[in-house]
Amino acid sequence: MIDFNGKSILVLGGSRGIGAAIVRLFATSGARVAFTYISSRETAEALAAETGSEALLADSADRDAIIDLIASRGPLDAVVVNSGVLGAGDPLAMSPNDIDRLFRINIHAPYYAAVTAARHMPDGGRIIFIGSTNADRTPMSGLAAYAASKAALRGMAKGLARDFGPRGITVNVVQPGPTDTDMNPAGGPLKGKMHSFMAIKRHVTSAEVAGLVAYLAGPEAGIITGAAYSIDGGFAA
Ligand code: NDP
Repeated sequence: MIDFNGKSILVLGGSRGIGAAIVRLFATSGARVAFTYISSRETAEALAAETGSEALLADSADRDAIIDLIASRGPLDAVVVNSGVLGAGDPLAMSPNDIDRLFRINIHAPYYAAVTAARHMPDGGRIIFIGSTNADRTPMSGLAAYAASKAALRGMAKGLARDFGPRGITVNVVQPGPTDTDMNPAGGPLKGKMHSFMAIKRHVTSAEVAGLVAYLAGPEAGIITGAAYSIDGGFAA
């Protein structure tokens, strides 16, 4: 386990699923952790009490709320942008408002979170986006907006890696495959279809994703930047 003692870490979207596993891992590794949520107050408060972290209500669809929140936190050693929405459906039927909201949460929030955090971050800080294997492979219909939003994170990480590299700040994307959470339960109806695309036919666990995030936030990953790491059982292989 990596020692994050003395590190201050913010996780956007940390109340459930992958985000909660990231909060747990950092908190049990000694970091001072704060995380945001949007709807599950009770779950968020229970996680905060369990882990000694801080739960903050902030909507990732609200650009100014995210900028103000991050600016108010002081220097952060690492920021993980995990909040994301799926929004699958027929593009001919999906409402423009829903698509815009998806892009605000999945693209705008990571951008403004990263830039705002970098203003106050010490040299050697870490910025990690939770993307998706669907940035590389989208073998099912109804995922165009989602896949586009996750592909955007790759370009964003590459560009920001150049911008912040002189300060030793790294910017990377972690791209999970089907991961057992409320968004994509391992026992859900599309399980067989999703597993058919994978070399290892099971859902990823949130703890496995958290382990990769912790590695990228840790001291041995200081030279890794502008990269995307898939953790997807070979979904995109
Ligand atoms: P869940 O739906 O299980 O959890 C989503 C988390 O994000 C919750 O903590 C939720 O808060 C928070 N969140 C959602 N919208 C907002 C918002 N507008 N503002 C603040 N917080 C928000 O998702 P997963 O854990 O499955 O997914 C986490 C990330 O991983 C996402 O970016 C997703 O796209 C990505 N991913 C997931 C995969 C999967 O198969 N599960 C595969 C590939 C990528 P609250 O509890 O308050 O609702």
